[in-house]
Amino acid sequence: MSQNSNKKLDKNLKLMSLSATILLILFIYTMYKSSTQIEGSSYYVGLLFLFLLLVVAIYIRLKQDKIKEFFEKKGVNTTAFEKELQKQKEEAVTTTKEELTSNIKAVTSNITFKDVAGISEVKEELEEIVDFLNSPKKYISHGVKLPKGVLLVGPPGVGKTLIARAVAGEADVPFFYQSGASFVQIYVGMGAKKVRELFIKAKACAPAIVFIDEIDAIGKKRTGTSNDEREATLNELLTQMDGFEGDSGVIVIAATNKIDVLDDALLRAGRFDRRVFVSLPNIEDRKHILELYLKGKNLEFDVNKLAVSTAGFSSAALATLVNEALLNMIKRNSKILEEEDIEIAKNKLQFGKKQAKILDEKQKEILAIYQASKAFVSKHKTALFDEGISKLDSTYPSYHELVENIRRYLAGNIGVEVIKKEQYAVNSEDLKEAMNIALNMVDNYKMVTDANELINRVKNELRAELSHNAIQINRLKEIMLKNEVIFENDF
Ligand code: ADP
Repeated sequence: MSQNSNKKLDKNLKLMSLSATILLILFIYTMYKSSTQIEGSSYYVGLLFLFLLLVVAIYIRLKQDKIKEFFEKKGVNTTAFEKELQKQKEEAVTTTKEELTSNIKAVTSNITFKDVAGISEVKEELEEIVDFLNSPKKYISHGVKLPKGVLLVGPPGVGKTLIARAVAGEADVPFFYQSGASFVQIYVGMGAKKVRELFIKAKACAPAIVFIDEIDAIGKKRTGTSNDEREATLNELLTQMDGFEGDSGVIVIAATNKIDVLDDALLRAGRFDRRVFVSLPNIEDRKHILELYLKGKNLEFDVNKLAVSTAGFSSAALATLVNEALLNMIKRNSKILEEEDIEIAKNKLQFGKKQAKILDEKQKEILAIYQASKAFVSKHKTALFDEGISKLDSTYPSYHELVENIRRYLAGNIGVEVIKKEQYAVNSEDLKEAMNIALNMVDNYKMVTDANELINRVKNELRAELSHNAIQINRLKEIMLKNEVIFENDF
């Protein structure tokens, strides 16, 4: 409860006791003057009533702290969200006096989760945020704070923007879209000003979603040596994110495909501390996406087959594929979409400007061996287009845990080398990550003396282990090729 209402309670108590005392004196005085004429009991009842009033007033006065506490508890639960909103809005009104130059505007999103096909795990993760925006009291009454910032990590065209819009649509709140680049391609000092303005407007419309696409344009690691425009903009973003409470109703969703280039400060608690990984759609996702875009069309081909043959396509590429195929159907003056339309569209996509990565059978097999080997070593669910590994993540990792993480990073490349009897350049990031851990063990923890020696030893051990289990790796590869995912019960 605010100080204002505390004061009100105090004032009321004083007035109550004062009026009770005055009335009592008046009553006694009247009785004394006219005691001979009092016949009925009403005077005595009145006197008793006033006495009671006085006792209650005194009791309240004595117990006022407890009473205040009781009201405070009730008040916070029901009104914190509204009060925070009110505060933000008042703040926004006063700050808007500062001249606002750019044309940041919210849009109403008409996209819902129904328009986002596949990626059900991503949707599930974000459903909690929708629920929070719809019924904040439920969370606030339990003292639960939701993240202020959610970082969507994934390659282009997998639906990061679409899903952010769907969150806004589901929660029926305004959606503020800004791309990271739009903050930096402007005059000096304007980037930070634009960030400020974005937050002022979002707070004024709260609950609201702020979406920053390609946040790496402003969020790259700061060098600390130069104080350029981008760093000033990033600093302003950090300040703004610290400047509002989790229950303010503003949720910032940002998208990137390169989480490792982001400044650590952005990923710290209280900023983008929730991360949701969106990968290229797997076979099931692709089927759902194709079905969504082909709904109501006359088809003369098997959608399941098309889902299989479009491994490596992003969701956006699938949408374009269907569109191009439909254009071809119209060109043919037909109302039936045929396999031929799809083939022509695929060629256009592969060789045209909008390049889609289509994996041929050999490339797909290499990727399948790479992921199957990773799955075999980590014994975790792994999908064909997964990036990274399932790492051991202890606060105080032991020597063995660190070496295990190196093994998991190296497993994919070594698996391909063992099975294909030749080295392939599949993923250089893995090798870098493995080397980083080894260097950390040498430089910071003095657990080993030579990083290269450690890496080579782990590689040799993996070669022996994986060639010993080649049959098993090949079996997992087949599962991966068929289902594009290996589950834990496949081992
Ligand atoms: P990103 O932000 O990851 O680059 P977008 O959200 O901009 O990707 O996706 C581009 C387009 O691709 C969307 O407008 C939509 O037409 C289509 N799309 C992407 N993901 C999906 C999905 N899961 N379901 C349906 N359509 C999708």
